[in-house]
Amino acid sequence: MILNYYQQLRQQLPPIHQRMIVLCFSLLAILLVWPQPRSTNLNLSSLLFAEGVMLSHRQNYLLIEDGWLTRWQQWLQPEPVENPYLKTYAITSGDSLSRIFQQFGFGYSVVQRIMAADESLLALDVLQPGNRLTLQLDEQLQLHSMELYIHAGKRIVYLRDESGDFSYQELLDDGHWQSTILQGEINGSFYLSAKQAGLTDFDIASINQLFRERLNFQRDIQAGAALQVMRSNNFVGETSTGLSRIEGVRILNRRQTFSAFLHSDGQFYDEKGDSLERAFSRYPLQRRFEVSSAFNPRRLHPITQRVSPHNGTDFRTPTGTPVLAPADGVVTRIENHPFAGKYIEIQHFGSIKTRYLHLDRFLVKRGQRITRGQRIALSGNTGRSTGPHLHYELHINNRPVNPITANIPLARPVPDDSKTAFADKVKLMTEHMQQPSTVSAVTNPAQLKVAGALSRN
Ligand SMILES: [Zn+2]
Repeated sequence: MILNYYQQLRQQLPPIHQRMIVLCFSLLAILLVWPQPRSTNLNLSSLLFAEGVMLSHRQNYLLIEDGWLTRWQQWLQPEPVENPYLKTYAITSGDSLSRIFQQFGFGYSVVQRIMAADESLLALDVLQPGNRLTLQLDEQLQLHSMELYIHAGKRIVYLRDESGDFSYQELLDDGHWQSTILQGEINGSFYLSAKQAGLTDFDIASINQLFRERLNFQRDIQAGAALQVMRSNNFVGETSTGLSRIEGVRILNRRQTFSAFLHSDGQFYDEKGDSLERAFSRYPLQRRFEVSSAFNPRRLHPITQRVSPHNGTDFRTPTGTPVLAPADGVVTRIENHPFAGKYIEIQHFGSIKTRYLHLDRFLVKRGQRITRGQRIALSGNTGRSTGPHLHYELHINNRPVNPITANIPLARPVPDDSKTAFADKVKLMTEHMQQPSTVSAVTNPAQLKVAGALSRN
């Protein structure tokens, strides 16, 4: 029918017009079939229309699930373009930086240089699942900078300079804290009762530690005693950083109450303001040794001659000098670092952490509980060091501070100038913790004037 009509039309038209029509149809046909890389559904529809298949969009998708149309659709989708200068890597358990760098084709010298920059931070030799690396390469595909993502509130950027060495910058965001009230009844095992109330193993260990001087958990708690805990969790925006801390604990026997409240100085006191902490030793050594290099965030490094923070105090100890724990704690790291040498890290009560570098010999194991005054190591001269010494670091709230001048727990009551503020806070927190309907209330600790100690991982 169409053909007949076309034949008639052809006879009526001059030859030049006929040729033009043929040309136009040919061009139209080519345009319809011509592939367009960044096409959308619209082009796909016109393609289907050209084939004489008129369907709605929904039907299109049903139709094109199989066969050549699917292939067409795949072809029309733009391929994800890989940026050859940007690499990302998600840390899994057991990963080490040298193995990851090997995978990306970097030589061991790059690992060495970045580890040298990390000596005063020691963030790279304990990579943990959940951490992420983002590597930016230069035109020669060599490492230009690297970001270590630890959690939403903590990232570290290592940047290469003209000499090929790296320096680091910490990107920290304290975020905000949200507190939760947990309540329960203690019957039989404290651990199981606390678990039932929603406390984590970390919370329970912290509470055990808090009352270790005052309370025997097996003997002193009566059946049916009430447990009230205020715990805060840290967030940056909506994202949890995984950090949490105990703000307050009350254990109510029939006649006697045990309590602990976190003060703005990062230390715990009972409701009367008496310290719950044992005194912290100023020096991790049996006697005083000369300080050969003081704590200095803007020090010129004696070997590299570059400005790099000296996050600790160096004592001129002969190799083999016993190193003593300044307070109770748990050994969280036993490592051998190319620059820091053999080193130990101890997590003390609450927000305090200590590190001991360039050791000769370890006398404790990772995970071990240690007590104040215990020999934990013998000092030495391992790693990048100019001579035998002990490098001692004190971290409060996850920031290095001067061990010689910092505010360390002295087992004294709440200082006079903050007694009123502490009493107000205890009153407010006690009210919150007692609310009978509150099983898991969320409040903003800022309103409770809670500040200070964090128990960072
Ligand atoms: Zn040092």
